[in-house]
Amino acid sequence: MAGGAVALENPSPARLLRVQTQLRVGFRSRLPAPRNESQESSTHEDCGASSQTYIIPGAANTVHFRAVLNISPKDRVFVLTGAGISAESGIPTFRGAGGLWRDYRFEEVASPHAWQRDPRLVWEFYSMRRRVASDAKPNPGHIALAELERALRERLFLCTQNVDNLHEQAGSSRVVHMHGELFKSRCDTCRRPPFDDAGAYEPPSEIPRCACGGRIRPHICWFGEVPYHVDEIFRALDACTLFLAVGTSGVVEPASSFVGHVQGRARTIYVGPEEPANGSAFTECYVGKAGEVLPGFFRCESS
Ligand code: NAD
Ligand code: ZN
Repeated sequence: MAGGAVALENPSPARLLRVQTQLRVGFRSRLPAPRNESQESSTHEDCGASSQTYIIPGAANTVHFRAVLNISPKDRVFVLTGAGISAESGIPTFRGAGGLWRDYRFEEVASPHAWQRDPRLVWEFYSMRRRVASDAKPNPGHIALAELERALRERLFLCTQNVDNLHEQAGSSRVVHMHGELFKSRCDTCRRPPFDDAGAYEPPSEIPRCACGGRIRPHICWFGEVPYHVDEIFRALDACTLFLAVGTSGVVEPASSFVGHVQGRARTIYVGPEEPANGSAFTECYVGKAGEVLPGFFRCESS
């Protein structure tokens, strides 16, 4: 059986357990009630999603349940994705095993100060990231969210901290990139809008220049800069009834505060292989890889 999620439904914060993606875990938490339809697979028309049944060996009794998120016709869903959703596509996360910050110090490559001090090093870093991301293909996690957009339309708000374009490649059409886009650049001097740019500007290349004489920089929100689309994002947070975060460590502000903003008013759900730093703010935590949990996860009830 494929690995999958272990769902801890509505645990009190103190009982949010860390369990492994592999299902060979001793399970010591309140489980969702066992269901009879074990070993089944079903398809739901709205989302076109098939749901899988997960089995937990090692528990006192073998338990079958579905990792399924029911979405009612009245729900407005806010999805926040982080670097983790792209990890299975081969794009390294910032933190954790294989994280980018093991090789680079962010203050040397991803801050306004770094740009002033050594723009060539900054472009070397982003050229490397463009190269890595240009080979990447969306994984089943991105595809499940694109299917969810087709089912929910304007009732889904997809906000990503990621700068890659894997959500768009998967078919999502309304992605809000709060930290910018890797394949766009902009002038550091004039108000020319950001433009498509997949160029690699590695030494000995010169720093690209704008017609105004300014330097062309990556269209990325660096540490110390203000994220993009913040007003739109908070309007969507205020309107949502269901908040889902996927693959984000919960340490980068302001995204890590979004769950606190909706807590107590919206259902708050996390999907990822480990508990995030802000895990206590979530009411449900599905512990597993996005590419394994999200396909078949969404069940959109029709009105
Ligand atoms: P992060 O690197 O801090 O944390 C990554 C998280 O993903 C961890 O919590 C980890 O447990 C989880 N994860 C690892 N594998 C996963 C999987 N298969 N499925 C689900 N989750 C998985 O990431 P963050 O919180 O997004 O950090 C913030 C910054 O990282 C953002 O500013 C973002 O712009 C930047 N970033 C973006 C990309 C990208 O565009 N793909 C890549 C690296 C970093
Ligand atoms: Zn310019």
